[in-house]
Amino acid sequence: MGIFKSIKSLFLGEKSPEEKKENNIDKTKSNDKDIESKIKSKSKTSKEDNLKQEFLQKKPEPESDSNQELELKPKTDPEPETTSTLDKGLEKTKKSFFSKLSNLFVGRDKVDVDVLDELEEVLISSDVGVETTIEIINNIETRVSKEKYVGKIELNNILKEEISKIIVNENSNSNFNKSTIYSPYVVMVVGVNGAGKTTTIGKLAHAYKNQGKKVMLGASDTFRAAAINQLQVWADRVGVKLIKQQMGSDPASVAYDTLKAAKSQNVDIVIIDTAGRLHNKINLMNELSKIKRVMDKIIPESPHEVILVLDGSTGQNAFEQAKQFSSATDVNSLAITKLDGTAKGGVVLGISHQFKIPVKYIGIGEKIDDLKLFDPKSFVESFFR
Ligand code: GDP
Ligand code: GDP
Ligand code: MG
Repeated sequence: MGIFKSIKSLFLGEKSPEEKKENNIDKTKSNDKDIESKIKSKSKTSKEDNLKQEFLQKKPEPESDSNQELELKPKTDPEPETTSTLDKGLEKTKKSFFSKLSNLFVGRDKVDVDVLDELEEVLISSDVGVETTIEIINNIETRVSKEKYVGKIELNNILKEEISKIIVNENSNSNFNKSTIYSPYVVMVVGVNGAGKTTTIGKLAHAYKNQGKKVMLGASDTFRAAAINQLQVWADRVGVKLIKQQMGSDPASVAYDTLKAAKSQNVDIVIIDTAGRLHNKINLMNELSKIKRVMDKIIPESPHEVILVLDGSTGQNAFEQAKQFSSATDVNSLAITKLDGTAKGGVVLGISHQFKIPVKYIGIGEKIDDLKLFDPKSFVESFFR
């Protein structure tokens, strides 16, 4: 783990005793002194440091542009620390993908129809999705047919280029952040139970807070007391305010209270948790649109951002959820979580290609700083490294 990943624990407030993820943070924290001195000894002027500051890290240095939107600018030039955490997060996916790829050439030395057929299978079994796989294979086929001899290394390069092409295209216009235009900027987080909503909210709150933003959370997942408590633990850990009511109360009413409080207390960023347990689409739609209607009453045009959280480790199921949710509510960004624990990371490629909604964040662990901006370019780089 990188030094800069650990530095964030320096900014953590008091922690509540809970769960195993706490242990990870504590482990990190015990190294703080060490880390602090290492950081001090590092040059502050390097490009690397600037980038580090930008994403999920320290508050901006005085000389930096006060209007910069730190963690929301996808990085086109990946910096080593993020890259290595990304590499680590994608380890399982890469391992599985490349061991399958290397099998393609057992007993063969050039790309032929059989190799392409098998490559198609590799992509599909790596959860890239059928539509995306077909497009990639077609493009590769066209290229390969023009060249006499394509071996293993060439195929790897072509594959990388073709994958980059389709996902970079789809995500090239990710300049959709308006968190500095609206104040408060209201984010609603949706997704099925267990997808990682609450965890993502905690990480996001931390990232925004590190930018110097005043953050407030709203516990509109009122389904279980534990859900509210879990968000409270994150709020305490990050050191932000949480607006909540009792379990079972109306989620829209919690959202109402939260936005009211946020408005009167000059909060910059409001993040609303929601329940994902509604057994059918109609209920889901009704509940989410009710929450939105109430929000809009207090802060017109809010929520400004609706993040759909998808569990990447569910592979094809994540595609299905993306379809369901995007038809039920106006999702305008995606977060794909749990990429660290799965070999199904290829799902990010398919989802970012097939949905018109950009993938904005990826979750690569349970810790507070394990949320990364999704940058298609560094994602593909990492994938092929
Ligand atoms: P919610 O029901 O959608 O709010 O989901 P939670 O935030 O409660 O997350 C469900 C479980 O997934 C928790 O145990 C989280 O710690 C875990 N989780 C969330 N994001 C990630 C991630 O990026 N990586 C890993 N390994 N676990 C995650
Ligand atoms: P419903 O369709 O009759 O449940 O009401 P709304 O959709 O207008 O609002 C949903 C919830 O948001 C309500 O149950 C209230 O808790 C809260 N809410 C909405 N508008 C107001 C308001 O003007 N004042 C207060 N105190 N709460 C409101
Ligand atoms: Mg939750």
